[in-house]
Amino acid sequence: MAAFSSSFLPLHCISLHQRTSNPYTHYSLPILTKNPKRIKLTSLTIVSAGSDIRKEEVVIVGAGIAGLSTAVSLHRLGVRSVVLEQAESLRTGGTSLTLFKNGWKVLDAMGVGDELRSQYLEILGFVISLFLNLPDPNTEILGIVIKTENGRVLRAFTFKDEDQTVSIHIHAIIRMHFLSPKSEFGAYGNSQEVRAVERRTLLETLAKQLPLGSISFSSKLADIQKHENDETLLQLVNGTRISSKVVIGCDGIRSSVAKWMGFSEPKYVGYCAFRGLGEYPDGQPYEPRVNYIYGRGIRAAYVPVSPTKVYWFVCFNSPTPGPKITDQSVLKKQTKELIKNWDSELLNIIDATPDDTVIRTPLVDRWLWPGLSPNASLGGTVVVGDAWHPMTPNLGQGACCALEDAIVLVQKLAPALKAGPMVVDDALKAYQNERWRRIFPLTVRANVTGAILQLENPLVCSLRDHLLVPKLIRLGPMMEHTNFECAPLLQTKI
Ligand SMILES: Cc1cc2nc3c(=O)[nH]c(=O)nc-3n(C[C@H](O)[C@H](O)[C@H](O)COP(=O)(O)OP(=O)(O)OC[C@H]3O[C@@H](n4cnc5c(N)ncnc54)[C@H](O)[C@@H]3O)c2cc1C
Repeated sequence: MAAFSSSFLPLHCISLHQRTSNPYTHYSLPILTKNPKRIKLTSLTIVSAGSDIRKEEVVIVGAGIAGLSTAVSLHRLGVRSVVLEQAESLRTGGTSLTLFKNGWKVLDAMGVGDELRSQYLEILGFVISLFLNLPDPNTEILGIVIKTENGRVLRAFTFKDEDQTVSIHIHAIIRMHFLSPKSEFGAYGNSQEVRAVERRTLLETLAKQLPLGSISFSSKLADIQKHENDETLLQLVNGTRISSKVVIGCDGIRSSVAKWMGFSEPKYVGYCAFRGLGEYPDGQPYEPRVNYIYGRGIRAAYVPVSPTKVYWFVCFNSPTPGPKITDQSVLKKQTKELIKNWDSELLNIIDATPDDTVIRTPLVDRWLWPGLSPNASLGGTVVVGDAWHPMTPNLGQGACCALEDAIVLVQKLAPALKAGPMVVDDALKAYQNERWRRIFPLTVRANVTGAILQLENPLVCSLRDHLLVPKLIRLGPMMEHTNFECAPLLQTKI
């Protein structure tokens, strides 16, 4: 039950009343709002401590990327936290995530970047194509490849070329405006770094940084209420009760913490994604580049992750999210059916994919409208990552932004915890203000990008394939959102 629950009660019932059901004492403080027929009572329930309530300073709900990176960052700054995870163990399934330079900067600041780098290939660029004529196998195209569904290459980029173009441009600006080279390079000139990492390894690497016992598995949050002394009371499905000064909701797109804070459900955007991880025990044959394939109302990509694994996805329009299918061999068949007339390369990668890595996700987002959306913090409770800002994966930024959120929040929260509740409140507000400016435009941009790429209209697709992608797109501005700076978290002894 949420602390702010509303109910319709006859007027005579409206009084400050006290119930003494153990182990809590509930104080319901009525707040009246007028309605012509009835009086609405909104009760703010404050629960006082019972003897079985555990006390904590910081509780993190969810051991995903946001939760673990927040816990690791806090740990680096000497703050102990407890992570509650509903599952019995870390999420071991799932596929890969592409992390751009902003994600890597945060992982470096947390001290885990190099460990991950050593396991995953650096992607040098991309190729965009249609599926008629595949690139000559003897021509080496490094980078991002964008193709149409019949294999025609629309465009190929390498990150290095784009970096050089941007650098030249920046030198010109510096000369013209006498700006500090450092600040200019900080804004534009950093080399791109792109690697796809397995979600499982990323989570395990982060979890390894935490002291033993920091993550409490099989600990699903069932209920959240405001508690006495400005604390928040968490009730778990297994019966445990925890009162905490600060609660950090990192519980993903269906976040109960966000729901309690008044956020609406994320909205389905009209297309779904199949994803999988092809396995090549004897070595995969692909160049280190992202290969995009554009069709009408359907698009796909594949990218080598490591010497033996290749990540792929297929996004397709669907008016509804569709039924939940648990048989992963069925999901694989459905994916192949969608692209059965395409060039065989992607079909071969899907054939090399173990069924248990194939997943189907209806894509959703939630826009943080200024003045309309709830704040990211309420009392000592705050949301991070997908719990706050689910975004479509069209820019590959959901996890990168969850990492950014974590470090920005912790850099503000850790010193404030030592200073008291008022300062904590200010720190959480400062986090929301700083991050909102970055998150809101990115969520909108990711949505619009996806909407354009999923268009089915033949005329629009023709414009995209003959003008927009081959002639107009420049990688530098397209990647500008991956610029992010953060200072390393200096290890403090707890
Ligand atoms: C198709 C697709 C492709 C993507 N590709 C990329 C990409 O290339 N690059 C990128 O940066 N991002 C990508 N993303 C986004 C990325 O996956 C998410 O942004 C990221 O996983 C968010 O992490 P999180 O920790 O906020 O949430 P989650 O990863 O969802 O973690 C939430 C955790 O909370 C736990 N939990 C939930 N409810 C409770 C509860 N009541 N009690 C206790 N625990 C609970 C869950 O079990 C889970 O462990 C992609 C997303 C999709 C759908």
